[in-house]
Amino acid sequence: MRRPLGPLFWCLFLPIALVSGASACAPAPSPGAGGQTVSLIVTGGTVVTMDAAGTVIENGAVAIADAAIVAVGTAADVSAKFRAARTIDATGEIILPGLINTHTHAPMVLYRGLADDLALMDWLTKYIFPAEKATVSPEFVRVGTRLAALEMIESGTTTFADMYYFEEEIAKAAIEAGLRGVLGQTIIQFPVADARTPADGLARAERFIEEFKDNGLVVPAVAPHALYTNDRATLVASAELGRKHGVPVIIHFAETEEEVRLAREKFNATPAAYLESIGFWGPNTLAAHAIWVTDDDITILKRHGIGLSHNPESNMKLASGAAPVSKYLAAGVALGLGTDGAASNNDLDMFEAMRQASFLAKHVTKNPTALPARAALDLATVGGARALHMEQRIGSLATGKRADLIVVSMRSARQTPLYDPVSHLVYTTRGDDVRTTIVNGRVLMRDRQVKTLNRDTVIADANRLAAKVREAVR
Ligand SMILES: [Zn+2]
Repeated sequence: MRRPLGPLFWCLFLPIALVSGASACAPAPSPGAGGQTVSLIVTGGTVVTMDAAGTVIENGAVAIADAAIVAVGTAADVSAKFRAARTIDATGEIILPGLINTHTHAPMVLYRGLADDLALMDWLTKYIFPAEKATVSPEFVRVGTRLAALEMIESGTTTFADMYYFEEEIAKAAIEAGLRGVLGQTIIQFPVADARTPADGLARAERFIEEFKDNGLVVPAVAPHALYTNDRATLVASAELGRKHGVPVIIHFAETEEEVRLAREKFNATPAAYLESIGFWGPNTLAAHAIWVTDDDITILKRHGIGLSHNPESNMKLASGAAPVSKYLAAGVALGLGTDGAASNNDLDMFEAMRQASFLAKHVTKNPTALPARAALDLATVGGARALHMEQRIGSLATGKRADLIVVSMRSARQTPLYDPVSHLVYTTRGDDVRTTIVNGRVLMRDRQVKTLNRDTVIADANRLAAKVREAVR
């Protein structure tokens, strides 16, 4: 197996703080020689922990006992203390927290490439809503989510926040695939495939919450689609349902100028101020997009501890605008990164989302120092965890957190030479470079072989349903 760089190179040129005492130049010790027995040790790679200090451990290791991380350190230290039932050698690779996609609609992968190059309202009302009316079913959602899960596992996403219909099918497919999800049952004012009325949708959401609230992988949520697709009573009822069960509330928010214009016209307020006035905002809310906001709106979002999802690719493709990322970060608002559904992106690759987030922030502010690589990587990991109000459990590699991590190859021509792992993760790496994906201590993909889904079946099923989609929008 070829290694891109010799150990000497790493010692001399890695322009990042190495953990003191790290034996960066020593060959990897044979792992698992130590005392306590754990289930898995991932060892020999450069561990980019994403902790607050920015710790990067050359020739590091992560020890995992069942679903939890029990140690992060140098390979030598971990080997001295732990003996593993199973070891994954990550020599020459990067060990990174699993990526967190804070906004998507998993089954919409089945609409990928169906209608491009349109503004949001045209795209939604002329293509997506009619296609959904004709094709969304439990089977559609199940098959679509399996396809999305395959893509997410293959590109290093370990947690996704979702809002769609028949969300229980998404939950079951996520659990089966082994992915972590914050999954919101959609509430919308008009009749949809899984609810004739908002009241039906709310009842369905409550059943969904009760069914999955104690699950180790899935956090159930309620997801009123948007301000412009729900009336006041439905928005309030959705927020109350979330509060009643202590689960997240997810909404599309301030995505277009048109949404702001409508809010000003109907309510004489910005979307943020209106949602505050009706008591919608709560401490466990996730708002996606958040593009068109005033400085006062940012203060409102901060005051209520709202988590935000920034979706640069979808926002650029639909020409919705650019969220004021630097302002949010300066204000200390919890900000994560999302792909949005694959119909407006058109993939679920969080590495691409990081890169585009950084480029877009620089472009709109005319400032090349805006959203540097480290900040973009933060959005996709610990920032996402914060936005989902899950920072105690996921987002960085630390003892006690859930064992959600990925191993990323740095061997391609595109990644050579390697001076700074963080730079490469954001500016040259693609989802396809992920070699191994682990969630809750379970290995979902090893050396690009997905263990929890049958790849051929997932793709064949997706193509079978795509024929129905094609027929529906003909
Ligand atoms: Zn969306």
